[in-house]
Amino acid sequence: MPDKERIVFDDIDKYGPQHYERTLQFTTEELERTELVSIGPVSLIADARKGELPAEYLADGTTTFTADFLCSRCVEPFPFANASEFHLRFRPRPEISEENAEVEVTPDELDVEFYIERAIPLRDLANEQIQLAIPMKPLCTDACLGLCVQCGANQNGEGCSCAETVVDARFAALAGIREELAKKHEQ
Ligand SMILES: [Zn+2]
Ligand SMILES: [Zn+2]
Repeated sequence: MPDKERIVFDDIDKYGPQHYERTLQFTTEELERTELVSIGPVSLIADARKGELPAEYLADGTTTFTADFLCSRCVEPFPFANASEFHLRFRPRPEISEENAEVEVTPDELDVEFYIERAIPLRDLANEQIQLAIPMKPLCTDACLGLCVQCGANQNGEGCSCAETVVDARFAALAGIREELAKKHEQ
């Protein structure tokens, strides 16, 4: 029977194209992303088949999950829903010899994953897709105002009154510079 937890290339050779449907649980610890507060079950659907090249295999599918991220500006958690498609090509990793230390990657190989083992755990595949789905700097909204640099208060909503004092201080500094310049001109 074909494996249901891993895309096993020998299964594809033996039984033909394979369909996978899995619901996977991940902890925030194993995903190792500080922006992640919590994550729900991750649903993974994938179809795998032989590619055109010898020993090439293709996997197309989707991952869907909901999570809570920390906003990188205001540091408040906010809900996030993701559904993303993937189209992967697996090719055998080229042999790296002494004289051929650098293997050139051509542009059409950018979505290629080079394999050594002839089996891809669906869990690893899902983890990779989650990592890609998490933005570098998650924002609760594009217009998030972040935290006050003076007192740390969340500027979304009521905010604080530091802004006025900051502005006052800047004006005071400017006034000081003007005075200095005026004095220099007098001399
Ligand atoms: Zn925010
Ligand atoms: Zn403030």
